[in-house]
Amino acid sequence: MGIASGFALWAAELVDPPLPISSESIPKENKETETEMEIHVFEKNPTVGGRMAMVELAGDKFEAGGSILHPKNLHTLQYTELLGLKRKTSSDDDSDFGIWDGQKFIFKTFPGGKSGFPATISTFINNLLIFWRYGTSLLKMQEYVSNLLDRFLRYYEDSRPIFYTVDEMLKWADLHEYTRHTLQKELVAAGLSPRLISELVTVIMRINYGQNVDISGLAGAVSLCGSGGDLWSVEGGNWQMAAGLIDQANVSLHLNKEVASISLKGEQYEVNSTDGQVYDCEVVVVATPLDEVKISFIPLISIPERHLHHTYTTFVRGLLNPVYFGLSSTSSLPDLIGTLEVPDLPFSSISILKDYSRDDKAYKIFSRKPMADDLLNEIFSDRKETIRIDWAAYPHYQAPEKFAPFLLDGHHLYYINAFENAASTMETSSVSAENIARLILSRLPGGRLQISRSEISDLGNAKMHPEL
Ligand SMILES: Cc1cc2nc3c(=O)[nH]c(=O)nc-3n(C[C@H](O)[C@H](O)[C@H](O)COP(=O)(O)OP(=O)(O)OC[C@H]3O[C@@H](n4cnc5c(N)ncnc54)[C@H](O)[C@@H]3O)c2cc1C
Repeated sequence: MGIASGFALWAAELVDPPLPISSESIPKENKETETEMEIHVFEKNPTVGGRMAMVELAGDKFEAGGSILHPKNLHTLQYTELLGLKRKTSSDDDSDFGIWDGQKFIFKTFPGGKSGFPATISTFINNLLIFWRYGTSLLKMQEYVSNLLDRFLRYYEDSRPIFYTVDEMLKWADLHEYTRHTLQKELVAAGLSPRLISELVTVIMRINYGQNVDISGLAGAVSLCGSGGDLWSVEGGNWQMAAGLIDQANVSLHLNKEVASISLKGEQYEVNSTDGQVYDCEVVVVATPLDEVKISFIPLISIPERHLHHTYTTFVRGLLNPVYFGLSSTSSLPDLIGTLEVPDLPFSSISILKDYSRDDKAYKIFSRKPMADDLLNEIFSDRKETIRIDWAAYPHYQAPEKFAPFLLDGHHLYYINAFENAASTMETSSVSAENIARLILSRLPGGRLQISRSEISDLGNAKMHPEL
């Protein structure tokens, strides 16, 4: 289970009709009304967390997947408070970065603390340098991002409706249009300069989604949010949010239990695991992207085809080779090396995770293809340890995006990761999961969150689910 597990779980076996239902999220409901509900969570791996996971590199642990959270990610902030987890803010502010075009650095910020300059002075100089290169376009970029963020914040309003489809959810917050066009098109319309789009914005897209400015506009804006200030993560690992929420909810967690098939039999679902166990459930929530998993559905479900983007994440403890970058000393290399969209450039970014000494550091490399040993031997002068992870990371974004419905069969089969075509983050999974929790509660017999028929007919998918 990943982050979505806090609210919506693989399969919920309802022992009795869960009545009465008095408020809006499953965990709260359970506490307030002691609804008799048995919830099973199935996880095929030995640990929970999914794309929130740690990697151990030469004795130190680092985030391997979802790593940074935004200060306005209100659900994840709430999880950490609820679970008593400590937050740490990103130290990126005092690290320098450079843009590599495969031949040379076309732009580099000023190395801060390392050269003895106080951080505030180097930050000031770097802001000037960035402003000098990109000008007022930067302000337009900020405005574009904060405009979208304001709209996204509406999903935390008490008055938000319950949504059956991602399209409807995005339309309600005036975000749908941003999924119809590429980021490039959106940013040109917003008045950003070609230089800012092809350099800084491209670098950010390659780091955060492994893709480029052809990504759809909303995912692009979310990715730009991930390059701002005050970013944070959970000390000890973001996966603890999933683990802690599962602990707090009164659920049966089945680790190493892979779901093989989900069949609707009359009013109930039969969930079969690969080890031959059978679970009868009234409600089933799929909380993983269905694009690469082998789960059989009976009857068949139909969802738009979607390709996941594979991000190869390589961790190296050692030292970069300055010669590869046309430099004479490693100290001239920036802490974060971003790259332009240049054919055959073999990596998207390289960042320092930890600086142990002048010639011993931990690095994280993102690439679109596996990093072969020969290539790593060119890029690094010393390699003590290397770890490679192939993530089926997030959708390959393609505007106009097509979304699977939250409700897959018009009965009680729900799909959280339908929202990932809008944007894939820990917080967006949580927002989608919370909506599905409310949707389930509204649709269960006697649910106090029952939505009206007129609301349903506005959904645009009335034909798909006529029985509603
Ligand atoms: C390299 C990388 C970097 C990222 N960076 C960020 C970031 O900085 N900030 C951010 O917010 N997001 C980031 N993301 C995205 C973020 O991690 C995901 O959007 C989010 O964690 C998805 O959570 P989820 O619960 O929806 O899905 P997942 O985390 O994918 O959880 C799905 C779970 O279902 C399990 N499962 C799958 N099939 C079965 C089956 N048949 N039976 C039983 N269990 C099954 C899986 O093992 C997994 O545990 C990043 C992702 C990657 C890969």
